[in-house]
Amino acid sequence: MSRIHQLSPRLANQIAAGEVVERPASVVKELLENSIDAGGRRIEIDIEGGGAKLIRVRDDGSGIEVDDLPLSLSRHATSKILDLDDLEQVATLGFRGEALASISSVSRLALTSNITDQPGNGWQATCEGREMSVTVTPSPHPRGTTVEVRDLFFNTPARRKFLRAEKTEFGHIEETVKRLALSRFDVGFQLRHNGRAVHGLRPCDSDLERQRRIAAMCGPAFLEQAVVIESRAGELRLWGWVAQPTFSRSQADMQHFFVNGRAIRDRLVSHAVRQAFQDVLYHGRHPAFVLYLELDPANVDVNVHPTKHEVRFRDGRMVHDFLFRSLHRALAEVRPGAPAASVVAEPDSAVVGSPAVQAPLGLGVAAGGGWGGGTVPWSGGAGSAEPTPAAVRDQLSSYGALYGNLGSPLPSQSGAGLSPAEPAGAAGNEVPPLGFAVAQLHGIYILAENSAGLVLVDMHAAHERIVYERMKASWEGEGIRSQPLLVPRSLAVSQREADCAEQQAELFPSLGFRIERAGPESLVIREIPALLRDADVEQLVRDVLADLLADGASARVQERINELLGTMACHGSVRANRRLTLPEMNALLRDMEATERSGQCNHGRPTWVQLALADLDKLFLRGR
Ligand code: ADP
Ligand code: MG
Repeated sequence: MSRIHQLSPRLANQIAAGEVVERPASVVKELLENSIDAGGRRIEIDIEGGGAKLIRVRDDGSGIEVDDLPLSLSRHATSKILDLDDLEQVATLGFRGEALASISSVSRLALTSNITDQPGNGWQATCEGREMSVTVTPSPHPRGTTVEVRDLFFNTPARRKFLRAEKTEFGHIEETVKRLALSRFDVGFQLRHNGRAVHGLRPCDSDLERQRRIAAMCGPAFLEQAVVIESRAGELRLWGWVAQPTFSRSQADMQHFFVNGRAIRDRLVSHAVRQAFQDVLYHGRHPAFVLYLELDPANVDVNVHPTKHEVRFRDGRMVHDFLFRSLHRALAEVRPGAPAASVVAEPDSAVVGSPAVQAPLGLGVAAGGGWGGGTVPWSGGAGSAEPTPAAVRDQLSSYGALYGNLGSPLPSQSGAGLSPAEPAGAAGNEVPPLGFAVAQLHGIYILAENSAGLVLVDMHAAHERIVYERMKASWEGEGIRSQPLLVPRSLAVSQREADCAEQQAELFPSLGFRIERAGPESLVIREIPALLRDADVEQLVRDVLADLLADGASARVQERINELLGTMACHGSVRANRRLTLPEMNALLRDMEATERSGQCNHGRPTWVQLALADLDKLFLRGR
């Protein structure tokens, strides 16, 4: 071992950069936070080569005094806190005084700023060498600051190696910009990549403009399906948008949570949200939300992580309960027939009826609202209300149609005799393993009698497994049969999603879809899998896109086919609260017998249980 020596400033900064500057998007995050902290209202972001070549952030904020320029580039120098008291109630996004020093140690950075309205008063600072000595020269600039970061990681080859494709890196940058744009509606953002405008978001002054921004960042469908939250308890306030469970995602990729304007990922928060969605969200689905929690800064510690993605609440339990109760109530109030876009407030809250509550809500939410999304024909019979005869007929015919549809185009293991119309047990005297249906219980379970005793079948779980297995068989065989839509359906998506759909030109046809691009942010669905003509195909396409975007490389798509088929099966199978006729129930039982793995649903739960006569006898203390 050699003797101890002081690290050079550059090396020390490079080490610190290891924590803060993971990839181009982290640089963008730090620079945008600085611009926001400086009171910038219009921020321009120029990116070249996914950020590896150039990141330039320009704001119209307060600017930096020329004498402070060298300090702003050195470590542990900040204008945002002075002493420990300040640290305990930080109101700014930054406070560690590390970002510019770290970034400039691993790139070629130029900082240009002007605190006056005379453009001629601008100054530029750059730094060089092991000592990171700063040079300041006059440089015209309007009021505000520009930070230009070129050749990120040029001097740290190990880091540079970890950079992904330009597109991927830019995708992360876009996410970062989105998150900050969601955190500050009053700030305008312009994002360009390689000279092409990607986002142009003006500062929002009205609720309509805020909604527009939400739609631009999360897609119009999110906004349409969103419930507005506004809840207060004591000093805690929660507001924002939560998508109804029908808009759930296959990935946790649309979850934005802000604490006092800072985007965070927090386990306590995720847990509270998950719990609130627990009984309304289908297993394995992820809720979508944009939520803002506001509380006294003194009650939350933001200094627990270098990138400040995590926070620590002083009273975690209270925050958890508040989040859970607010969301749970908001979701409970979304009912068929209930006005959507419900505004939720704690009963003791002073906020009820205040403009803040009524304001955000000219939303088109009411129109789209209600559970079931309207495209699924059997959503009509949901709930405890007695289904009307027409609704029952609809449900039956859709089940029949689904069945017929399943039967023919696929290499059916279950043979031909399964049409719902066929009388059960016509084949012979032998009682089949699952027996014959005798009744349906609460629209959920089928009761059947077999030679051992009583069989209980979870109708949805069983049907889902059957559909899944058939889709797999069909996939392995001839590919999924598709069916053109009479009226092609257009789908508003983000540009990234649209690009992705275009790039996956081969995948969608192999899943039975024909999807074309109709504009920068819209797709049109022309053909769908024949199997799924009654399912919510829009949701399905969104999920497939989210999967693809989250997984990046299309090599993984192949591995995910079964998972996708599982999702499709889930959408395509019979829901609870569907009345079935005895022949339909028997058809389902026969299909279960003929289907592999039909003992469990796709989520691993059992699809049926046997209650033997002996078990029943025990219940009644018979034969003792
Ligand atoms: P921190 O944000 O934690 O204070 P940084 O290294 O990000 O640390 O920035 C150092 C200082 O430089 C800030 O405290 C601020 O005073 C100044 N600064 C950085 N960016 C800007 C900007 N865009 N406008 C005005 N001042 C800035
Ligand atoms: Mg900063």
